[in-house]
Amino acid sequence: MPLDTFGFAPAQSFINGAWTTAADALDLINPSDGSTLTQIARGSADDIDQAVNAAETARDGEWGRMTAAERGRVLARIGQLVLERVDDLARLEALDVGKPLTQARNDAIALARYMEFYAGAADKLHGQTIPYLEGYTVYSLREPHGVTGHIVPWNYPMQIIGRSVGAALAMGNACVLKPAEEACLTALAFTQLAHEAGLPAGALNTVPGLGAEAGAALASHSGVRHMSFTGSVGVGKLVQTAAAENIVPVTLELGGKSPQLVFEDANLEDALPFLVNAGIQNAGQTCSASSRILVHKSRLAEVAEAMAGKYNQLRVGPALDDMDVGPLISARQKQIVDGYLAKSEGLETLATGQISDAAPATGAYVAPVLLSGDDPTHVLAQREIFGPVQVILPFEDEDHALRIANGTDYGLVASVWTRDGARQMRLAKKLRSGQVFINNYGAGGGVELPFGGIGLSGHGREKGFEALYGFSTLKTVAARHG
Ligand code: NAD
Repeated sequence: MPLDTFGFAPAQSFINGAWTTAADALDLINPSDGSTLTQIARGSADDIDQAVNAAETARDGEWGRMTAAERGRVLARIGQLVLERVDDLARLEALDVGKPLTQARNDAIALARYMEFYAGAADKLHGQTIPYLEGYTVYSLREPHGVTGHIVPWNYPMQIIGRSVGAALAMGNACVLKPAEEACLTALAFTQLAHEAGLPAGALNTVPGLGAEAGAALASHSGVRHMSFTGSVGVGKLVQTAAAENIVPVTLELGGKSPQLVFEDANLEDALPFLVNAGIQNAGQTCSASSRILVHKSRLAEVAEAMAGKYNQLRVGPALDDMDVGPLISARQKQIVDGYLAKSEGLETLATGQISDAAPATGAYVAPVLLSGDDPTHVLAQREIFGPVQVILPFEDEDHALRIANGTDYGLVASVWTRDGARQMRLAKKLRSGQVFINNYGAGGGVELPFGGIGLSGHGREKGFEALYGFSTLKTVAARHG
């Protein structure tokens, strides 16, 4: 498939409704074989400035004047165009991210679902009237922030753009999107489809580039009135600090060390696919990856054996070969994961997946590794590895399980495998986590389900209806009429 199948050459930014060739370009690497896929724009602070200006103008122009219902219609049309191009988007994402084709296809479908969901939601969030003093009428207006900035990572470009740009547009904001330098082709394709669907000029501006250049310029731009950042904790701190200078609200979607708790009465047959898939999906490069499997001591041997059996069957290979696991995003990411694995002393290696002969030596491949140990403070049981690595940890009883589960700096997702209803309810309350799943993990993606973390996992919520509150602000109007 030619990379310009969506009708634009990749080394461009999209500003004020038009593709513009950047002054400078960056190589985009294919993680499956290390080759250069194409070149992308190296957006500058000046490009970001133009993009923010275009967004400001759009807010006061055609886009700002649209009714909520009209905005919804535009989003619905974008969703339709995304659905019609699911296969092309999936292929682009697979090439760019190294994600197995089936997983990339699921992301493209999720992007369409976000557009459909936020299309329907655009005209559903209203202000209120507030009973007040005699002679007053008081009401609130739900308004967009204005220009919203969106910095997204490389691991799930389509899903993250869907949930953040989709919700921001639904509320009438005008967006400036900075995709990741490692993977931005579907961000560009989405932008083109949004344009074709009739999104007015300036409502969505997309400027690829380096984090320290285009990203930092966007995060610190005084014209941006809300920042949505998804990425690492370290950069999240920089983005929040920059936003503090401008007194601008921030949504931070950061990392995780998410546990699954397997109790003595768990249905292992049900749990097994979730236990493994949640760790190896997208080669473990998932913020909500379940990297810790906590197991009651009475089921430890059985769970370890069953998971090891699955690991032994995992096949790793090029994204377009669509095996269980693709390459990591880059040689640098492989170095980070290998670095963690070199520190696994004190843990037992239970099983590893197999790198297929079809995987070129120039690709960033890591065989999935299943580890086990009894020290929940081990570095591999505490830090986000962002690779296909899971650690099994035993627990004695419910309190012990809870202490281990809550014993990291993160709090993004947790799941509980038990048939005991009272235990399900207790743990749902006590787990320090933005989402808790009972006898499942991830609930099939859940476009409708509010998502976000506590602690180092971040703050603010995206996805679902809840995101619309974050991407809007409330004005109170008090009229004294006697
Ligand atoms: P990263 O923080 O290095 O990069 C993310 C984005 O920030 C990229 O677009 C990058 O260009 C930009 N960036 C980098 N430096 C910047 C700077 N100084 N100023 C502004 N922007 C800058 O993260 P990564 O390694 O690419 O992504 C992996 C991380 O993202 C993991 O920690 C993962 O858990 C997290 N993540 C979280 C979620 C979530 O929803 N909670 C989802 C996906 C990924």
